[in-house]
Amino acid sequence: VTLTILDADLDGAAVGIRCEQGLIVELGPEVAPAAGDEVIEAGGMLLCPPFVNGHTHAAMTLFRGFGDDLPLMEWLEDHIWPAEAKLLPDDVYWGTRLAAIEMIRSGTTRFVDMYWHSTEVARAVEDAGIRAVVCPVLIDNLDPSRGDELRAVALEAIEALAGFGPLVTAALGPHAIYTVSGESLAWIAETAANRELFLSIHLSETEHEVNDCVRMHGKRPAQYLDELGLVGPRTVLGHGVWLDPGELALIAERGATVVTNPAANMKLAVGRAFPYQEALAAGVRVGLGTDGVSSNNNLDMLEEVKLLTLLQKHTARDPAVAPASEALEIARGLRSPLLGGTTLEPGEPADFLLLDPRTPELSVGDIDAALAYAASGSVVDTTVVAGRVLMRGRAVAGEQEAIAEVVSRAERLTGLSR
Ligand SMILES: [Zn+2]
Repeated sequence: VTLTILDADLDGAAVGIRCEQGLIVELGPEVAPAAGDEVIEAGGMLLCPPFVNGHTHAAMTLFRGFGDDLPLMEWLEDHIWPAEAKLLPDDVYWGTRLAAIEMIRSGTTRFVDMYWHSTEVARAVEDAGIRAVVCPVLIDNLDPSRGDELRAVALEAIEALAGFGPLVTAALGPHAIYTVSGESLAWIAETAANRELFLSIHLSETEHEVNDCVRMHGKRPAQYLDELGLVGPRTVLGHGVWLDPGELALIAERGATVVTNPAANMKLAVGRAFPYQEALAAGVRVGLGTDGVSSNNNLDMLEEVKLLTLLQKHTARDPAVAPASEALEIARGLRSPLLGGTTLEPGEPADFLLLDPRTPELSVGDIDAALAYAASGSVVDTTVVAGRVLMRGRAVAGEQEAIAEVVSRAERLTGLSR
């Protein structure tokens, strides 16, 4: 598939962009289509890098608007986990398909997922044409006797995920230190190291988690996880709200990435903001995520950018903290090599967006400020992944079917209907 986009606006200059075999091969004012290219006249739309959602549970579109306004553990134990026990593989497929459509519509082309039935996640990712790091959830409820089961799930998933194409990156997703035993965590660390796999885990989301860890293990969560071998350059730590300066220094030294999820943290009222400035000062690689839609309740990375920067400014009592361009760089996955953010240059993956500059939100003022503070994902007109046009004029193939599937499945899983 070859694609040429003409008359796009890149930093005020009219450019064309040509894609071949999933890569950008030419970018500049002189670009012309070759015979057989799919050609798009961009009509002055803004050419821009896409977003990377660093932490989510995509199929939770099935649980949007279910168990809202509750504390984290009550929400998980009384609502989400019982409903998830009823999940069928097809539910996960359709939940992920709908999430992928929502992400394509708001400019996200790559996400780090952690969920059940990971082969269905991968199948939905490929069918949608988006990219994802697919982490099967691994849990043994702190019961080492369930370790065999966890290991079987992990090995089966790794093997199945390896059979997918380049849009899918196989990984492991131990849920958290309060749901996975130390024995299993150590095995996961070793397995990931041997196979050079990406790891994603929730860490230090609540103060309660930190206190329990200190009481049970005599050390703080990052320290505990590090001693089990899980904190390394291929590790994404979700949340990190309660990390202290010593833990941030350790995470920076190990080259791990912390993905902050400001909407979910505020919605679940976890009690403080991610220590963003301290993390940057320590040299921690930082990313941005929406978390699952059941705790957000959407997958719009531009909305998340605004929440990130506003929460950090507010907490620091300093409007200069997390300026627009910096927050956008984080949302594009460019502050951590692990998140796979891409830029607009020949040789890079052909993943990019065309934004509509004639929307009220984007029409005047500094463009980074417009994106970070004024716009939502609805300013995205066209989304391209690996040189394939997944959305044009805000239309994504299969949207109505995915909505209908999720509506009926959500009703069965949650008992809620309208
Ligand atoms: Zn999460």
